Amino acid sequence: MREFVSVAPAMRVIFGSGTIRQLKKETASLGMTRALVLSTANQATHAKHVRDTLEDHFAGTFAEARMHTPIEVTGQAVARAHELSADGIVSVGGGSTTGLGKAIALRTGLPHLCVPTTYAGSEMTSVLGETADGVKTTMRDPRILPHTVVYDVDLTLGLPVSISIASGMNAMAHAIEALYSRDPDPVVLLMAEEAIRSIAIGLPAIAHDPDSHNARADVLYGAWLCGACLDRSGMALHHKLCHVLGGSFGLPHAETHAIVLPHALAYNERYISDAMARIRRALSHDSPSTALFELNRSLGGKTALRDIGMPEEGIDQALGLVLRDPYWNPRPIEGPALRALLRAAWEGRPPAAAG
Ligand code: NAD
Repeated sequence: MREFVSVAPAMRVIFGSGTIRQLKKETASLGMTRALVLSTANQATHAKHVRDTLEDHFAGTFAEARMHTPIEVTGQAVARAHELSADGIVSVGGGSTTGLGKAIALRTGLPHLCVPTTYAGSEMTSVLGETADGVKTTMRDPRILPHTVVYDVDLTLGLPVSISIASGMNAMAHAIEALYSRDPDPVVLLMAEEAIRSIAIGLPAIAHDPDSHNARADVLYGAWLCGACLDRSGMALHHKLCHVLGGSFGLPHAETHAIVLPHALAYNERYISDAMARIRRALSHDSPSTALFELNRSLGGKTALRDIGMPEEGIDQALGLVLRDPYWNPRPIEGPALRALLRAAWEGRPPAAAG
């Protein structure tokens, strides 16, 4: 007998090629006539593109979005919005820029239109992580969810292959954890399987031809679904590990996910038979954790936490932090097995079969 609760958040999503030409119309339908455009410092080209398409709905730019949404940067951006009498926000970029857009929307109530250019998936969630005095805290609030998301495959063509691979693996992690989350929504299970399949097809095709619209569209489409999965399900061991590793050692977000994912899945695999059946189908592989490790490795992705800045003594430090405050997980969190997981991920070894 099935029992579930399914909640679909209200948001408008436009997906395609050349879709940013619709920005003026889309901002107008949110009541914006003076949009503040957000980006990171090295995304000036995209910001300029957006500015041109907004025409007289453009009020100004704030191009200082940074990873992990530091609250002092948010304060400067809010001040800029007031100074320009902005009546809405258009964020164009990866998860860092989306995060800034969410933080401003939460503080000001301004409408937020998001134009994602990586596969992080943040644009689909009502989750915001902010950093104050070096400490990152995460909150969930319906006001954080962007109102409209415009996916334009063209804007992702310039995303370097190495960032694309890590970012695509980061997206897959959202779908994989959604498959074994507590009380899963059946719609999320369908989305997650489709998302994993689409990204697993698209990533090798991007590595082969980064300018392929079809390959880029497969991964961006998958990333959209993955973000929706993240919003509609709880997080487990994989996300806990990544939050601890990112927070404690300043490791790069997407690469950390890409390295940890095969190991976290291997840790859980004997406890999640329904999810494993879906992941096997999606990846067309009998051993999904091996398939994920090989996918990342064969496309040139980093496989060792030590190669992205984690010190060896960090293994015990991270273990302590996870054990002190674990997220719910299908397999109980066992110290020795978790230490073995962290060591394998630190050294870059293939995931071990679940112990
Ligand atoms: P990012 O936004 O920092 O982007 C990575 C780099 O790629 C940046 O230098 C950026 O300027 C560049 N870039 C982005 N798009 C590009 C393009 N099309 N072409 C060339 N360069 C491009 O990183 P990210 O991995 O997208 O996002 C990570 C952040 O998002 C983290 O802070 C993470 O916590 C957050 N996040 C939040 C959620 C959520 O639901 N709240 C979900 C996923 C990620």
